[in-house]
Order: sequence, then structure tokens, then C-alpha cells
Amino acid sequence: MNVPVWNPAVEFMEREALERLQLVQLRKTVEQALKTPFYRRRLGEAGLTRPEDITSLRDLRSIPYTTKDDLRAAYPHGLLAVDLEQAIRLHTSSGTTGTPTVIYHTRRDIDHWTELVARCITATGASARDVFQNMTNYGLFTGGLGLHYGAERVGMLVIPASSGNTSRQIQLMKNFQTTVVHATPSYLLHLHASLASEGVDLEQLALRKAFIGAEPHSEQTRRKIEELFGIAAYNSYGLSEMNGPGVAFECVHQTGLHLWEDAYLLEVVDPRTLRPCAEEETGEIVLTTLQRQATPLLRYRTRDLSCWMGGHCPCGRGHRRLARIKGRSDDMLIINGVNVFPSQIEDVLMKTPEVGTNYLIQIEKRGSLDRLTVKTEIYAKLFTGDARTLEDLRERLGEALRSAILVKPVVELHEPGSLPVSEGKAKRVVDLRPAF
Ligand code: ADP
Ligand code: ZN
Repeated sequence: MNVPVWNPAVEFMEREALERLQLVQLRKTVEQALKTPFYRRRLGEAGLTRPEDITSLRDLRSIPYTTKDDLRAAYPHGLLAVDLEQAIRLHTSSGTTGTPTVIYHTRRDIDHWTELVARCITATGASARDVFQNMTNYGLFTGGLGLHYGAERVGMLVIPASSGNTSRQIQLMKNFQTTVVHATPSYLLHLHASLASEGVDLEQLALRKAFIGAEPHSEQTRRKIEELFGIAAYNSYGLSEMNGPGVAFECVHQTGLHLWEDAYLLEVVDPRTLRPCAEEETGEIVLTTLQRQATPLLRYRTRDLSCWMGGHCPCGRGHRRLARIKGRSDDMLIINGVNVFPSQIEDVLMKTPEVGTNYLIQIEKRGSLDRLTVKTEIYAKLFTGDARTLEDLRERLGEALRSAILVKPVVELHEPGSLPVSEGKAKRVVDLRPAF
């Protein structure tokens, strides 16, 4: 088979062998979890006191869920399953939705994480011949060191640029002829908008691929990045509780994210009833680590919403695919009683050619009603045109948004560069309504 692959033995493993491996690893994970005070209590309450109590993959259902609040309550040491001297690193989440959570790693954990990232990178066709510029933050955030280790293992020339300083990023890309970058989609859009003011055009760059992730983004945003730079952009999904990047990634075919099933057991459940979802039915992603020593996690409720995709990928890998992440269960906005996901708004905006690279969603209370304002940057040349063109665009956007989300927004058009930019995860929603 002529597809780029890092670890053929695991990536093309037969389903039966893969499930046998999952069961062995699930038992080991339960054994490891029972070493932590948190899980001894939690599993004990469910009558699970020995790893041998798990006799089939179906027994996973008898294990209680673990939530983000559990992780917060166990902070800082309650989930550590090894002696502190065996742990060689810790990472925390970025704390987008509250107090961060901590994950420890042994040397083997880091080594295995690195292997997963190397698989992801290779699956996109990137290789030791590439120059890789990592534009995500190096530090507690996992996107920096996670991708860095994987890229070094693949043998790429790595530029550990970290996040921010757009002017320096562009100079590095030009001087070292960077071929692959890793960044949040919002930052890449911002970087594109900054090329002109840096006096650099695409011809002077050698960019071919981008790995984009860490925040929800629509298919339209991916296409926009691909068209603006003339490159291929691959979706990368991960979360610090599951190491970070390397959980699921797109291959060269870009048809959904292969989830490494030898490392993670995935369930998709209805976030309200916790009933398992059918294939292709969207629900909350629940993940169990299968390889981790220092911080094993059982049935971790990620709050991310997506679904299993059916069918097989043309690349031939047996590891099933997740659809693009739709958002977080706690991302959903209720506007005058209507459920709205920010990704639905983004979809409409990015489909509209006149719309630029940045936008902001604002909700406030007007009397007893909610008022939704969508502020979007548009390309500078439109501002030189006549007022009628702008008015037409505003109306067109308002109408397209109304039919997509069933709420009529106020649309504001802004000049490029006038809305706030974030160097890491974009903050697209400003909810000014009182909390009760
Ligand atoms: P935090 O939960 O504080 O943001 P992380 O840095 O661990 O901490 O971020 C992980 C989260 O980022 C995921 O749970 C998910 O919500 C989001 N995320 C990561 N990758 C993607 C992606 N490719 N598409 C959509 N959302 C993503
Ligand atoms: Zn594939």
C-alpha cells in the first residue's frame, strides 16, 4: 500500500488483534488506576477492586465516568499512580473553562506520546525532509512540547518558534524555508493577514502543509486556510488530559480524524442521558487511556462533541475515524431559547468570500430579550467601494445567519486588523448577559 506510515504493524493491525490488545491494556490501566486514592474509592464504590474483574471490553460500561471536576478535586496529586520519582514531567490544561487539571508522565508515557505524534505527522505525508515550525506555546500547554518531540522523532528540522511574535514567525518561515507549520487555525488566518505589512509574499515562502487544532473550527475555515496559503491543512485533535496532540489526526485523505485505538478507548454518549450513541450520531466523546502509567484515566468525559464516522478510509488504517469536533457541550449558546453553536456562525462567515480572517460573537440582554451581534472583519478593498455594497453584504450575511441558526443577528462589518487577536486559542464569544 502506498501511503506514508510510521508504525505499519500497529496502524494496519487487524480489528480482532486490536481489540485483544485493547482488553489487555484496559486491564493494565485499571490495575494502574487502583494505585491512586481517587480511583480506589471511585472503583471500589462500583464494586471493582481487581483488574481481573474486567473480562471483556463490554465491562468498560461498569466503570464509573471521570469528569473534569474529579480531576480538579484531585489536584495536585490525587491521580498520580506512580512514585513521584518515576514521573519526569507534568502538563496542565490551558484552563479555558476554569481551574486547570494536571497530568503526570513517566519516561515511558512521554516515549509513547511521542510515538503517537510521530504517527500523526507521518500520516499527513510530512517527513524528515521537512522543515517544521511549531507556532504553539511551549510550556504547560501541550501543543508545544508534544508536537516538538514527535517531529524530532520523525527527523524533521524543528524550529521551536512557540506562539506569538508574528513578524518573527514570518521571518523564520522565510529564512529557513519552513515547509510545515503547527498553529491554531485562528492564528494562521491572522498570520496570513499580516504577510503584506511584513512585506513578504507567498512566493518567498516554501509552505506546503499546516497542522491545525486546539480549537473548534469549521470545514470552511480549513478550506479558507488552504486557499489563502495554497497548502493542505490537517485537523489535529487532542486534549491535555489525554496527553495533548496525538489523540486523533487526519491522514493524507483528510476524511476525518483517525483515533489511535491502541492508545485510547473511545465511546460517544448522549451528554444528558449518558446513553451510548449510534455510529454517526453526535454526542460527547468519552476517552479511556490504554497506555498511560503516571495518570491513567478511565471513561473521561471530555465535553467535546463529535461522532464516529462509518466506513473505511482509503488509506487502509483500521483505526476508526472521528468526525470534526463540533464544539464543546458547554460551548452551546442559548439565544432567546434557541440552541446555537459558535461553529454554525463560523461556517456561514467563512463561506462568504468578502469576509476576512477574524470575527467576534457578542450576546447581551436587551430588556427581556437576548441580542446577538456578529462582528466580522472584511477585506480592505470593500471599504473603498460605495456604501450600497457594504449594506448589501450586511443584509446578505444577516439573512444567511438567520437561516442557519434561526436567530436574526445584528451584523457589524469591521476593517481588517480591528478586532482583537489571540495568540493561542481564539476567544470568539463574549457573553455579556448576567449569569442568572
Ligand atoms: P482546555 O480544555 O483548557 O482548553 P487543552 O489545552 O487541553 O485545555 O485543550 C483541549 C481542548 O481543545 C479539547 O478538549 C477541545 O475542546 C479543543 N480542541 C483541541 N483540538 C481540537 C480540534 N482539532 N478541533 C476542535 N477542538 C479542538
Ligand atoms: Zn486515512
